[in-house]
Amino acid sequence: MIDEGVIHFQAVHRQRPLEARRFGEAACRLIAWREILARTGLVGQQAELYGGFGYGNVSCRVGPPSAPRRRRAFLITGTQTSGKACVSLADLCVVESCDPRRNRVESHGQVLPSSESLTHGTIYDLGAHIRFVFHAHSPTIWRRAAALRIPTTDPDVPYGSPEMAREVERLWRGSSLSELRILAMGGHEDGVIAFGRTAEEAGQVTLRFLARAYEAACAEGGGLCSV
Ligand SMILES: [Zn+2]
Repeated sequence: MIDEGVIHFQAVHRQRPLEARRFGEAACRLIAWREILARTGLVGQQAELYGGFGYGNVSCRVGPPSAPRRRRAFLITGTQTSGKACVSLADLCVVESCDPRRNRVESHGQVLPSSESLTHGTIYDLGAHIRFVFHAHSPTIWRRAAALRIPTTDPDVPYGSPEMAREVERLWRGSSLSELRILAMGGHEDGVIAFGRTAEEAGQVTLRFLARAYEAACAEGGGLCSV
């Protein structure tokens, strides 16, 4: 299903700049890892992929650790910023609340939040210790999710939907998701989500599985060709 970049939720958005003093440090940490994901092709925008829409997005929590579920504020890249060569605080926004059951997101910033904000919010709701969520696109990982033992959501559950929240909770309870810190989105072509207590943890999980997927691809074909 090609519906990358399409906002499915009800967005209540206040258009105002984010304060650099409050969000600048977190933004630069996110932008640094987004750059690495962009250079490895895990975030980006190409005319021949996903109907030409941008793909992949990153977020980090900015609210207090004790915030209750659905009100765990996070900083996230804005919708359709995945293909940008230069990214700054102006390309991010803050999601203040995120309610998958009501399909509703409240946010502020100069750009609208990523179309996958509900999925990010669902991951933060799994545990207060989760501080960073990276959503990447990798056919190399996604097609080998079973071989790499990556927990995978039901292919019939569309991304960014209330059903996806229930599906992620099911995996959290019944699989090695909390240990591996990565899942594949069965109903969202090439989509994977990694998370961690820190940006390094979420990034290393993503890159570790990319390396394992390349290793498997190399073994399958007796070598590996860059494309
Ligand atoms: Zn995606």
